[in-house]
Amino acid sequence: MAGAVDPQEYRGARRRLVENLQQQGIRDLSVLHAIDSVPRHLFVPTGVRHRAYEDSALPIGSGQTISQPSIHARYLELLNLKGTEKVLEIGTGSGYQTALLSRLASQVFSIERIPALLEKAREVLQQMKLNNISFMLGDGTLGWSQFAPFDAILVGAAAPEIPVAYVEQLAEGGRLLIPLGDRDEQVLSLFTRHGEKLERRDIAPVRFVPLVGKHSWES
Ligand code: SAH
Repeated sequence: MAGAVDPQEYRGARRRLVENLQQQGIRDLSVLHAIDSVPRHLFVPTGVRHRAYEDSALPIGSGQTISQPSIHARYLELLNLKGTEKVLEIGTGSGYQTALLSRLASQVFSIERIPALLEKAREVLQQMKLNNISFMLGDGTLGWSQFAPFDAILVGAAAPEIPVAYVEQLAEGGRLLIPLGDRDEQVLSLFTRHGEKLERRDIAPVRFVPLVGKHSWES
């Protein structure tokens, strides 16, 4: 079939990336296995495809970037997914993390505000025949109340504070990962919901593109 995914393409490069991540301390085998099985080169523009398996962030167009693989790995390890969860992803971007989530959770809901990015991501994910993903074009700072509550919410862009919808739409015991700070520098923070309270754990200093929307930065 035209456009079918060849699992052997870049196989060696992908293996080396997985080894690199293991050396960096990523231990979760399901996360490593997901990274080993998702062709990251399909999610980056052809001009930077030869760099797809380096541990670096790359431009994906529209002024946005695909995060570095070790960030994705760290993110996913922190969520500790078992495969039964319903997950909300804010900022589909390239769709690479969406593909990893599709392998690690039961249902994935992903929101992107830039039409060109969503269209491209959707195309690649359909090519991979991943069918547990729902997409929405729109402002992710509002969450997706129709399918709430979510066991995990991952925000792939930085906000000054937590948009209120994420607290409302997080299941009991659910986890929210979000970079919080100013436009240039943030701290990646993991929140766990206990009743009306959120327990906070700061993970690491990070730099993400801004979350742009009603309950975050203006464009
Ligand atoms: N995990 C993605 C990250 C992409 S960068 C990847 O690795 O490819 C973050 C994305 O968040 C960008 O595509 C940006 O357009 C999107 N974004 C920013 N604000 C948003 C909002 N309010 N709603 C939905 N998406 C948003």
